[in-house]
Amino acid sequence: MTAAQRHRVTVIPGDGVGPEVTRSAVRVIEAAGVAVDWEEAEAGAEVFRRGDSSGVPSETRDSIERTRVVLKGPLETPIGFGEKSANVTLRKLFETYANVRPARELPGVPTRYAGEGVDMVIVRENVEDLYAGIEHMQTPDVGQCLKIISRKGSEKVIRYAFELARREGRTKVTCATKANIMKLTEGLFKRVFEEMAPEYPEIEPEHLIIDNVAHQFAKAPAQFDIVVTTNLNGDIISDLASGLVGGLGFAASGNYGAEVAIFEAVHGSAPKYAGRDVINPTALILSAVMMLRHLGEHAAADTVENAVFVTLESGAAVTQDLARQTGGDIEHAASTTGYTDAVIANLGRRPANPPRGRGHVRPAQSPTPRPAWSYAADAYGRISRRLVGVDVMIESDLSVAVLAADLEAAAGPALRLETVTSRGTKIWPGEVVGDSVRWYTGRFVAPDGGAEPSEGEILALLGRIGARHRWTQVERLQAFDGQDGFTKAAGE
Ligand code: NAD
Repeated sequence: MTAAQRHRVTVIPGDGVGPEVTRSAVRVIEAAGVAVDWEEAEAGAEVFRRGDSSGVPSETRDSIERTRVVLKGPLETPIGFGEKSANVTLRKLFETYANVRPARELPGVPTRYAGEGVDMVIVRENVEDLYAGIEHMQTPDVGQCLKIISRKGSEKVIRYAFELARREGRTKVTCATKANIMKLTEGLFKRVFEEMAPEYPEIEPEHLIIDNVAHQFAKAPAQFDIVVTTNLNGDIISDLASGLVGGLGFAASGNYGAEVAIFEAVHGSAPKYAGRDVINPTALILSAVMMLRHLGEHAAADTVENAVFVTLESGAAVTQDLARQTGGDIEHAASTTGYTDAVIANLGRRPANPPRGRGHVRPAQSPTPRPAWSYAADAYGRISRRLVGVDVMIESDLSVAVLAADLEAAAGPALRLETVTSRGTKIWPGEVVGDSVRWYTGRFVAPDGGAEPSEGEILALLGRIGARHRWTQVERLQAFDGQDGFTKAAGE
């Protein structure tokens, strides 16, 4: 069990129950004989309160750059300090693009699905999507959040999922999207999945709409193997998956990038339990198991994982959350420390009934960029582009008919007004008038067969509109290789 190598790991105790669960995981790793030089670093609430609006001080960033491996407790974003979550900042700073969350039936943790063999891994894209956090108030009461999905970002995480499946001998990868509604963002993710799947002929590719995935999780979760999905979808369904196998007290995760990996429990800082020595540390201990596999400490990882299984199976140390689920004795439930002592005492034992399935979440090899068109600089030059027109978003109290007449007057020969829409629905020309939120989009397009509008013509149009209205945003309407790079409005 003695490791040949010493490892350096940045440990961030974090907020709320964070210090208790990280202490527990560190104790277990050390008791398993893994030699780690811990660099303790700060992030989260206290850092925000000191006036660092990122929540992640530069010493912490430096430590992570040195060690490239992080074990972290949950971080809180105190209300009124900073705008961004320090968790999201850490994931983005170190481009940990794959958030891997296993959900496996555990011995001694009864659930509705016990015995069905739930053993899945959710691979969630971790940097893009609505989590890019690009939000703008368009008017005093209309907010907008940009959903950014890139081909490169999608390729990286989807390749990660297929490589993970290949490495672990898993047989199916399900891609979960809302491509039926968001064709250019979620649809891009789905297309990349379909393009990449033939490179992995031994793995069954499947695409399901995310709402159906939620439905299937509740009905028959054992059918899933690996699920790869975009950021917000993944956030929600991975919490759902934790609920299937015992709850947040048991849900582990790893955030993997090309350089850095960050291991953390799925749960947050659970402030009401902070400092009470009652929280279940299993989630962070199992995240530490993922970390040990990342460090190549496979034997120690198996030892710790087995000790957790033995502890749960024996029922000798049951934390409050589990006692609550099983109708057990909450008064006499095991403390965080007591449970950790029990896991340490069980190091070296094997469970009588290990969970079914693989559950061995080893890191996939860092995906090597392949010569896909998204990466080859000269490929971009081969794509034909055409500027078709512009969408201009406008705040207005006018009636639709008056606004449209005004915008028609502002349009010139190079750009005619095609439609006026409200929140994606066409309201002019035509009869449909939905409930106004005082925010409209005028779509201006070059006349059929006409030349592309010039920059000067677009600016002149904006100038004419701006002289009479408050415009809030402009979007270029482009076609790539003859395909529209924009959607039509409902009702068009
Ligand atoms: P939470 O996960 O902290 O707690 C919700 C509830 O889940 C708790 O009240 C408790 O009943 C249960 N729970 C969570 N972890 C448990 C454990 N280990 N053992 C037993 N029961 C457990 O979620 P929240 O209350 O919504 O968030 C609190 C704070 O944590 C917020 O500031 C939030 O932003 C932050 N947060 C951080 C992370 C992270 O660091 N990765 C993740 C989620 C939330």
